[in-house]
Amino acid sequence: AKSAGKAQFARYSSELQQQAQRQLELQNALAQACSCGELRLVYQPICRLDQGQPVLMGVEALLRWQHDGREISPLEFIPCLEESGEILAVGDWVLRQACTQVRAWQLAGQTQLRCSVNLSSRQLQQGDFAARVADVLRETGLPAASLVLEITESQLMQDSAQNLACLRELASLGVQLALDDFGTGYSSLGYLKRFPLHIIKVDKSFIAGTPQDAESLAISRAIIGLGHSLGLTVVAEGVEQQAQIDFLGREGCLYAQGYWFSRPRSPDDLQRLFSGEDCF
Ligand code: C2E
Ligand code: CA
Ligand code: CA
Ligand code: CA
Repeated sequence: AKSAGKAQFARYSSELQQQAQRQLELQNALAQACSCGELRLVYQPICRLDQGQPVLMGVEALLRWQHDGREISPLEFIPCLEESGEILAVGDWVLRQACTQVRAWQLAGQTQLRCSVNLSSRQLQQGDFAARVADVLRETGLPAASLVLEITESQLMQDSAQNLACLRELASLGVQLALDDFGTGYSSLGYLKRFPLHIIKVDKSFIAGTPQDAESLAISRAIIGLGHSLGLTVVAEGVEQQAQIDFLGREGCLYAQGYWFSRPRSPDDLQRLFSGEDCF
C-alpha cells in the first residue's frame, strides 16, 4: 500500500508540474498576445422577449485568444491574466474597445444598444477604477446608462469593503451593475441587499435544465421571482431552445441571451445582423 501511495504521489506531483508548466507557457504567450493583437472581442446579443419576436437590447463583449492556430477559452486564460496582474491592462483594453465599438453601432442607428463588459475583481480593487470608467465613457462618448458591468458573486466576496465602495462609485456614474452567474456562488442573497445592483443574470446551468428538470425549473423560477420582487432586471443566460423561451415568458422574465438567439459574433458578423442581411 505504501508503494502504491508513493506511485500515486509521483503521478500527482507530475500532474501538478505539468499544470504549472502549462500555466507558465500560457503566461509567457499571453504577455505577447496582448502586444501582438492575438486578443479580440466577440459580441453576443442580449434580447428582449415580450415583443412577439426577440428584440436586440444589448451585447456582451467576450474575450477571445487565438494562439498557435487555435482558440483558447477565457475560462483557461483569464485566471492566468489574473494571476500575473495583466488582467488590469487587458481589462482596460476590453472596456475601451467594447465602449468604442458599441458607441459606433449606436451612432450608426442602434441608438438603444447596451454594452455589457465582464470585470475581474482585480479591476475593482484598483482604487481609481471608477475614475477610469468615467474616462473611458468620456473619451468614447458612450452614455453611462448604456454600459453594464458584470461581476460574479465569488469576485464580490474577495474584498467586499473595497468592492462595495467601488460599486457605489460606479452606480453613481449611472452605470448599470449586473451580478453574473447568479445562484452559483455563496450567500447570494446577502449580496443582493448589500451591493447596489441593477441586474441579475440567471446562471446557464439552471436554464440548461429547464423546462424538463423539475429542480432547475424551481430554482430558475425562484431566482426570477426574487429578482423581480427586488425591482431588478433579470436576464436568463444560456438559452438554447424555444421551450426555454416559452418557460421564461410564463415566468415573466423579459431578457435572455444564448445560442438560440446567437452565438457570440465578430463585429463584422454582428454588423450584418444589424443591417438585416442576417437574422436571429
Ligand atoms: P460569462 O460571463 O458567464 O459569459 C457567458 C459564457 O457563456 C460565454 O462563454 C458564452 O460564449 C457562453 N454562452 C453563451 N450562450 C450560451 C449558450 O446558449 N449555451 C452555452 N452552453 N454557453 C453559452 P465564454 O465566451 O467562453 O466566456 C467564459 C467566461 O470567461 C465568461 O463567462 C466570463 O466569466 C469570462 N470572460 C470572458 N470575457 C471576459 C473579459 O473580457 N473579462 C473578464 N474578466 N472575464 C471574461
Ligand atoms: Ca458575463
Ligand atoms: Ca454568466
Ligand atoms: Ca461564467
